[in-house]
Amino acid sequence: MQDSFVEPLKLLELPVWEKIKNERRLISFDLEITARCNNNCRHCYINLPAKDKRTKEKEMSLAQIKNIVEQAIELRALWCLITGGEPLLREDFFDIYLYLKKKGLLISVFTNATLITEEHIKFFKRYPPRDIEVTVYGVTEETYEKVTRNPGSCDAFMDGLELLLKNKVKVRLKAMALRSNVHELTAISQFCRQRTKDYFRFDPFLHLRFDADIKRNEEIKSERLLPKEIVTIEKNDPERFQALEKGCDGLINPDFAHFGCDHLFNCGTGNGSFTVSYDGFFRLCSSLWHPDCIYDLKKGMLAEAWHKFVPQVRGMRSKRDDFLKKCRVCPIINLCIWCPAHSYLETAELDNPVDYFCKVAHARSESLAPQFRPSIATQP
Ligand code: SF4
Ligand code: SF4
Repeated sequence: MQDSFVEPLKLLELPVWEKIKNERRLISFDLEITARCNNNCRHCYINLPAKDKRTKEKEMSLAQIKNIVEQAIELRALWCLITGGEPLLREDFFDIYLYLKKKGLLISVFTNATLITEEHIKFFKRYPPRDIEVTVYGVTEETYEKVTRNPGSCDAFMDGLELLLKNKVKVRLKAMALRSNVHELTAISQFCRQRTKDYFRFDPFLHLRFDADIKRNEEIKSERLLPKEIVTIEKNDPERFQALEKGCDGLINPDFAHFGCDHLFNCGTGNGSFTVSYDGFFRLCSSLWHPDCIYDLKKGMLAEAWHKFVPQVRGMRSKRDDFLKKCRVCPIINLCIWCPAHSYLETAELDNPVDYFCKVAHARSESLAPQFRPSIATQP
């Protein structure tokens, strides 16, 4: 990797490591049990074909998963998210779930709901999840399947969701705001809010692929909305916009421009949670795929990853001048999707500003707080 601007990892001195170790507490972890999916969503950052043999062969076995879970519990984890790809594609999904459940963990599951059967319902009623989170790609067959590129997926999704709701399995609904479904976003939000009153969110920020697939990345970019469209849909959603306005003082901080340091990470990555990829790699968060930031759990122990590797990654520093003078001191970074993980996915380096993110963040800040405009120095 050509990250010439990023200093190589250095082993931390033991007393520093001990101090960080004592301050950090593991709460939860994400298990990506497969990267395969029966859908082929246009915006998806991970999915590989459901029948992809090579990907399937690389998936962690049940025994490997049990071993990681055991180690996570020793580190006092409380909550596990089972995700994918589409996790229900795994033939041993019930075994994985049951193991977590019997270990006393809270469990969330991300699924597209198209594979939910009566058997899943019986199982979830007997062993209830904390919640099942389902993404709604559209509310008409035309839009839903334009996104998923899987004929029949809309009916399967509607049936699966209906089964979950009818049987009172706790469901949370969410949406991605895409070029292919933006015309239906109001209807999607109504659909979701009618079915799950307490919770709905949509996300207009699309991540690029973990495998850097060029063609798929172009598809994802073509699904991204323009900055002004993102602001418009946020304004059209009173709950979301009011929440943003309410937190505005905290989100926009002109004084931050004076506090810059050369640390790459200024977020919570690796504090309280981690992610394991389908092939057994530890990551500090689901978006962070840089080779210097992943740890192979097939060769080492989770405790070492958690106590030793995470502080090393969090200690990484940048020497890139435009990063240090721009994103590192940006007063609106909290309105921006920019972070080292997304910088890597976009530019193959951890500390590059990203023009599209910058434009979206500035459009959001202008819509929220016009009074800050003259004082924001990091214009896109
Ligand atoms: S359903 Fe989810 S995992 Fe499957 S392709 Fe769509 S976004 Fe990706
Ligand atoms: S990309 Fe722009 S808005 Fe985002 S953190 Fe960097 S300077 Fe700020």
